[in-house]
Amino acid sequence: MNKRVVNEFLQLVVLDNPSKDERKVADYILARLKELGYGAYEDQAYLVTGGNTGNIICKIEGNPDKDKVMFLSHMDSVMPCNGKVPVINDIYIESSKNTILGSDDLSGVASMLELAAALANKEVTGGDVYLIFTISEEIGLLGAKNLDLSKINADYAYVLDSGGDIGTASISAPSHISFTVKIRGKAAHAGMEPEKGINAMVVASKAIAKMQIGRIDEETTCNLGVIKGGNAKNIVCEEIIIDGECRSRNEEKLNLVYNDIMTVFQDTVNENHCTIDISSTKEYSSFLISDEDEALIKFEKACQLMNLPFKKEHGGGGSDTNIIYSKGIKALNISTGMDKVHSVEERIKIDDLFKISELIKIIVSL
Ligand SMILES: [Zn+2]
Repeated sequence: MNKRVVNEFLQLVVLDNPSKDERKVADYILARLKELGYGAYEDQAYLVTGGNTGNIICKIEGNPDKDKVMFLSHMDSVMPCNGKVPVINDIYIESSKNTILGSDDLSGVASMLELAAALANKEVTGGDVYLIFTISEEIGLLGAKNLDLSKINADYAYVLDSGGDIGTASISAPSHISFTVKIRGKAAHAGMEPEKGINAMVVASKAIAKMQIGRIDEETTCNLGVIKGGNAKNIVCEEIIIDGECRSRNEEKLNLVYNDIMTVFQDTVNENHCTIDISSTKEYSSFLISDEDEALIKFEKACQLMNLPFKKEHGGGGSDTNIIYSKGIKALNISTGMDKVHSVEERIKIDDLFKISELIKIIVSL
């Protein structure tokens, strides 16, 4: 069995890689690609994100008659990701439980570097391959959002950034709106003249009680996640700030749910003589890959050739896939086997690292 991908992964995970500080991982990737004889460049997305690293883009030329395939993984991990020490046993590579492991998404990075090595050694051949390593995915898909795809002529893309058995593809993910609502009432002394105040906390509660929150239907959810406000228990609460979000795989439903929530807030605030300030951000748009899409056909074929069970899933979160898709390249998110991510229990099966790197080699060769 080819040990390169495991070595690659072990060398990568010991590098500190918080969002906006992906320098060490980027330098490793750039050196590795250079060693393999490939030119790669780093873009200037850091000028927008405020980090110290840009996205890395590498084109590996292949047979011009074959499909041009793009692979993408992100270089950053969630905290705590400094001082990672991988623990290896027979089946898994695990975190030391003091930090996360970093398989999200360095398993994707390692697999893509293994693909580059296999292409350099002519162990596999195919069409043009684009390798994209993004920054600051974990803090809002910032690298992908600021990635210039105009020079990237890929037919379709695979984002290596999800979990589950190898052979699992997320073929859709929802659109996402996040919002902040500020309700302002009037402060007054709670004991001496409470009737002169308007309690923003009470008004917010009245509004929230009228809303449908949680799962709206099988493709739509909404949540109020943070509520802050008030200054002291003897002051009528003057201001409440609420952070929330809505998600749906259906754009129309997303807007409907969002507008319903805001109408309830607005009406309740008006009835109670408060003021309201609403701000919202469209975090990303949904994507949907159909059975006819070449990216999915190739993926299923590669799974069959490796005797892996092929599984399609509808994702509930956002990833760089949403951004790449919205920029016009059909993309799906495929599992690298990463498990228990965003926790100090994070782990990955050694065998899954082999499988995912073999799987993408087969995709290229088809
Ligand atoms: Zn990830």
